[in-house]
Amino acid sequence: MSNPLTSYSGLPPFSAIRPEHIEPAVDELIAHNRAKVAEVLASGGPFTWDNLVAVLDEAEDRLDRAFDPASHLNAVMNSDALRKAYNACLPKLSDFATELGQNRELFNAYLQVKQNEYERLDTAQRKVIDNALRDFRLSGIDLPPAQQKRFADIQSRLAEITSRYSDNVLDATNAWSKHVTDAAALAGLPESALAQARQAAQQRNLDGYLLTLDFPSYYAVITYADDRALREEMYTAYVTRASDQGPHAGQFDNTALMNEILALRHEEAQLLGYADFAELSLATKMAESSDQVLGFLHDLGRKALPAARAEMEELKAFARSECGIADFRSWDASYVSEKLQQAKYAISQEALRPYFPAPKVLAGMFEVAQRLFGIGVRERSDVELWHGDARYYDVLDAQGEVIAGFYIDLYARQHKRGGAWMDDCLARWRRRDGSLQKPVAYLVCNFTPPVGNDPALLTHDEVTTMFHEFGHGLHHMLTRVDVRGVSGISGVAWDAVELPSQFMENWCWEPEALALIAGHYQTGEPLPADLLQKMLAAKNFQSAMMMVRQLEFSIFDMRLHREFVPGTGIDIQKVLDEVRAEVAVMRPPAFNRFQHGFSHIFAGGYAAGYYSYKWAEVLSADAFSRFEEEGIFNAHAGAAFRRAILERGGSEEAMALFREFRGREPRVDALLRHAGIAVDAAA
Ligand SMILES: [Zn+2]
Repeated sequence: MSNPLTSYSGLPPFSAIRPEHIEPAVDELIAHNRAKVAEVLASGGPFTWDNLVAVLDEAEDRLDRAFDPASHLNAVMNSDALRKAYNACLPKLSDFATELGQNRELFNAYLQVKQNEYERLDTAQRKVIDNALRDFRLSGIDLPPAQQKRFADIQSRLAEITSRYSDNVLDATNAWSKHVTDAAALAGLPESALAQARQAAQQRNLDGYLLTLDFPSYYAVITYADDRALREEMYTAYVTRASDQGPHAGQFDNTALMNEILALRHEEAQLLGYADFAELSLATKMAESSDQVLGFLHDLGRKALPAARAEMEELKAFARSECGIADFRSWDASYVSEKLQQAKYAISQEALRPYFPAPKVLAGMFEVAQRLFGIGVRERSDVELWHGDARYYDVLDAQGEVIAGFYIDLYARQHKRGGAWMDDCLARWRRRDGSLQKPVAYLVCNFTPPVGNDPALLTHDEVTTMFHEFGHGLHHMLTRVDVRGVSGISGVAWDAVELPSQFMENWCWEPEALALIAGHYQTGEPLPADLLQKMLAAKNFQSAMMMVRQLEFSIFDMRLHREFVPGTGIDIQKVLDEVRAEVAVMRPPAFNRFQHGFSHIFAGGYAAGYYSYKWAEVLSADAFSRFEEEGIFNAHAGAAFRRAILERGGSEEAMALFREFRGREPRVDALLRHAGIAVDAAA
């Protein structure tokens, strides 16, 4: 079979990718893979790793090699033709994945491998089999016909009403706007926000300014507008969207949908044999039970609350003395916080830029990786790239052997998707003929490009972002796992996947590491100590208040999904009020309907999973604390992290790997300490 989009052993030939070839190639490969599955199953077994999983892995690899480079180009070199081809392939690929997930014969073949061959398989192979069987079961394959039908009905109804939930939030957001003709009414707003408001007005053929509930517009007013009544008006409109309260009360009300979503999720969980939806959600995660998650969240709350209360008192005192606000309310919080932050730490990201020229930062980051993990990074000039800004690097082990590679594409430009991400280009795995595919990663950022002959100058935020994505990249590239389904970041539990990335960010705050990555682009002068001190102080501004707010969302989410009672349902507002009584330092007004716009859990993938943000932070902070104890460039600790975490991918339970590295269960102390919250005083 010839496929113009793939070259079996090498890197993607980007210049050979033609948009018009993508869809036919994907069609051909899906048909080929479908036939392959049928052919394997028709053999009747007995099924083994080699005649089932290894064969299907090769088929899947071919499909990925055809589609992934096109998907990457769609993100970094977008064009109408590419987007059209990409969008045409997406439903076909997702339908094919669903088709495989619901193939009962295939499920039985995997079961047979488990029953007959499990003892002979290695740890990674066993994990692949167990994950596959788990995912088949979570798609309802094991249920009797009547229940399978009900399961499918629940799925399709949930898809429909969760999407209606977000539509309501969107419609409610769009329904409200405020036309302002007098610029004086917007005193305090920065010029960029005023320009945006002017543009919004022009788009509707209005003069003056238009305020909307789109986040940038809302954020600018709630943070900067001196007019307190205006802040109150916009706050009220924003926090009552899609609810029974506020200016559009009852018009886009999500109340009934929220109850139905929770009821259907609970029923789905029970059909699959779980006590509640929280347990179902945790079946694929690192956390073991909702008791464990709630215990963790409450513990963090108890320890952070005293510091959060003190921050709130400071804020209220500042509001009274400096802003003339005696009766502090929810719509004052962002505004006064901004003023307080300016008063305490006037530090601008712009002032730091000259100290972080991109080439110096990159070289310093590679040096950090070299000291920690014993790897070398070397640029290559003979690899085909998609744009002049992109680069390719080999990763070498201590013996000088190439073990992986990565592309890096740092700067923002037209036709490139925003944000920063790591994506896998090639996964590490061993084919049936014994040949080894080495892993290759894409690291993509959107930093300010260089101007004239000067190098690109990065903000410290951008430097942190680069370390974050490089951490994901190391997880993908340093894997030693030979099995496709669990090598690199594949098969890593969702609440553990941010461990290596957030872990690497820590080096951006260490003076010893900053000495490697920072240096004035003209003079080479190191980052001045007073700037560093300010940076470190500003880092923890209101960190305890932010922490308890995240805890409020996380506990609320977990309790909703575990306390639902069939028939009676659950009183959503009451649960939220109880959670706030426990961990909140700011009690919002009674009309606040935050929950009606909490799309993360009602319409997104975070249901009974919102805690993951804090969970991953605890893991990365606690992992880093070993380096604080043993030295931040301690090669022994670095090798241990590489061995226990970076090399093992999803081949074992994330908790077991963490324990192996840290010698114990994760503890919250390091995160609290890094956030400037004194554990002793709080405990
Ligand atoms: Zn990340």
